[in-house]
Amino acid sequence: MAGESEIKETYENGTKILEDLTNNAHELQEQMLEEILRRNAGTQYLSRFFPSGQADKQNFKTNVPIVTYEDIKPYIDRIANGETSSILLADPINHSGTSGGQQKLIPITTESFEKGWYHHFLADIVIEKCFFLYLGRCFSVSDEGKSLSLYFSKPDMETPSGLVASPYMTFYSKTNIFETRLAKFCLSPIETILCLDNKQSMFCQLLTGLLQRDKVVWLASNFASVLARTIKFLEDYWRELCCNIRTGYLSDWIIDPGCKNAMSLILTRPNPELADLIQQICEDQSWEGVIKKLWPKIKYIRSVCTGSMSQYIPLLEFYGGGIPLVSPSYVSSEACFGINLKPLSNPFDVSYTFLPNTAYFEFLRVNKDGGGKAQETRTIDKPVDLANVKLDQYYEVVVTTLAGLYRYRVGDVLKVTGFYNKSPQFQFVERQNVVLSIDADKTTEDDLSKAITNAKLILEPFGIMLTAYSSYSDTSSTPGRYVLFWELKMKDSNDLPKLDVKIMEQCCCIVEESFDFTYKSLRKGGAISGLELRVVKRGSFDELMDFYISKGASISQYKPPCCLKSEEAIKILNSGMVGKFFGPKTMS
Ligand code: AMP
Repeated sequence: MAGESEIKETYENGTKILEDLTNNAHELQEQMLEEILRRNAGTQYLSRFFPSGQADKQNFKTNVPIVTYEDIKPYIDRIANGETSSILLADPINHSGTSGGQQKLIPITTESFEKGWYHHFLADIVIEKCFFLYLGRCFSVSDEGKSLSLYFSKPDMETPSGLVASPYMTFYSKTNIFETRLAKFCLSPIETILCLDNKQSMFCQLLTGLLQRDKVVWLASNFASVLARTIKFLEDYWRELCCNIRTGYLSDWIIDPGCKNAMSLILTRPNPELADLIQQICEDQSWEGVIKKLWPKIKYIRSVCTGSMSQYIPLLEFYGGGIPLVSPSYVSSEACFGINLKPLSNPFDVSYTFLPNTAYFEFLRVNKDGGGKAQETRTIDKPVDLANVKLDQYYEVVVTTLAGLYRYRVGDVLKVTGFYNKSPQFQFVERQNVVLSIDADKTTEDDLSKAITNAKLILEPFGIMLTAYSSYSDTSSTPGRYVLFWELKMKDSNDLPKLDVKIMEQCCCIVEESFDFTYKSLRKGGAISGLELRVVKRGSFDELMDFYISKGASISQYKPPCCLKSEEAIKILNSGMVGKFFGPKTMS
């Protein structure tokens, strides 16, 4: 565990550390791989690939296969069932991260956890320096400000062998690092973060944020989907929150002992003046800029807004009233990839600079037809390493870690947008394999996002906002069609927008026109039917989130599915449908 002096030095020399890491990116990557092989080549998993016993980079590249989770699952299952973890990695596992609901168990060692934490810390330094904040992190808490960080927990799961498994954030919130360092900067009492009932947790965290509104300097969550949900929660609960503030009594449905205890130290007296003020803000017809009004000292919103989260950017810009949206880093349960060195860049254009000391990275080329539009065909090229990625090229990232992942496909597609010193910078493009497809067409997450961004522009003059979307390929009739779900709201009220058939049909046309050549030719030839756009009532996507949470997803790590596969999920959105519209019968 990093000592106090190391942390202090990191904070003070953050910029220099980043310069060193990025200037020596290639050497550090080589050292990283050597270290992983030195420690782990003897494991049952890896040793098979080094029959001569020579575990060097060359043999690694020729012999070790590129794998997905399914390939390593038998090893993970054996460990979960009680076999020694040394069949996969040399260091002991201290915890298992869960990802994608609970379908994936990812080994975490003390060292891999610390690397993750260090990475997070470097991202913080960049942001704090950018906003001229010096929070004296780790030493004393200055009054310069705190974060309203909406973090949530899930119950731990125990594997038959006794290993604890939980989402990264749940694990993180319980660590010493969180408690002694980061918790100091979070307004939310740790008991409210650890509360397993997400609704009680959200209520208490928001109540704390409102009671101490002058302290909030940034609003945070891991992913933007959580903030979208927080705003909806505020819409539904602001009256009750005001009532608690006015009377000094906590709502009686808050029964979690930790929450009750913690709130009794914060909600200590009636405060009708504050309640009036918040009521006045929330009673405003339009909630434009409500975040800035509720938390007047706020400087930025910190949350991942790239990839599938970019659908929430307009919403957060609207409610934030112009507060910068900062996507701090690109991290997964498997590895830490990069951090955003330009926190003030346009949220749609964020690039992450890879840090070479967290894992060994390789990149599989992904072919994208002209300008990055759809038509994806993977070349079976050998992967290249960090030193050899090319500007403007698309790649799927493959990681090798100290914690038991070897040439593991993470499933994310990235685009090289530049270099910082010798380290490449990537834009997150999309999850691999998220595709709508009826025939030979393949419409990816990124294609869909771009098409919807084009179409929703025509709703803006009518004061209508798109707050969430999803889709699926409907093959229940022939020819099949793409179905989109849109949740819409009026900008200046929570009323359901009046849906003009002509305008909605025009949205369908624009979406279809924005798709690639293959889609359009199949559509013109009649192999695909006109797109169907189903508008759902406000709150439908919250229900969808609840559904995935009930299936094991963690609210803090929730990623809205751009493309639905589950019948049940489709049913949930269908049940909120308030209108449906179609693209033209034939496409000219
Ligand atoms: P999890 O392991 O549940 O934390 O999810 C990790 C996944 O979340 C990654 O593989 C990405 O698909 C996605 N993700 C994480 N960080 C970002 C980011 N900055 N931008 C876009 N997607 C991200």
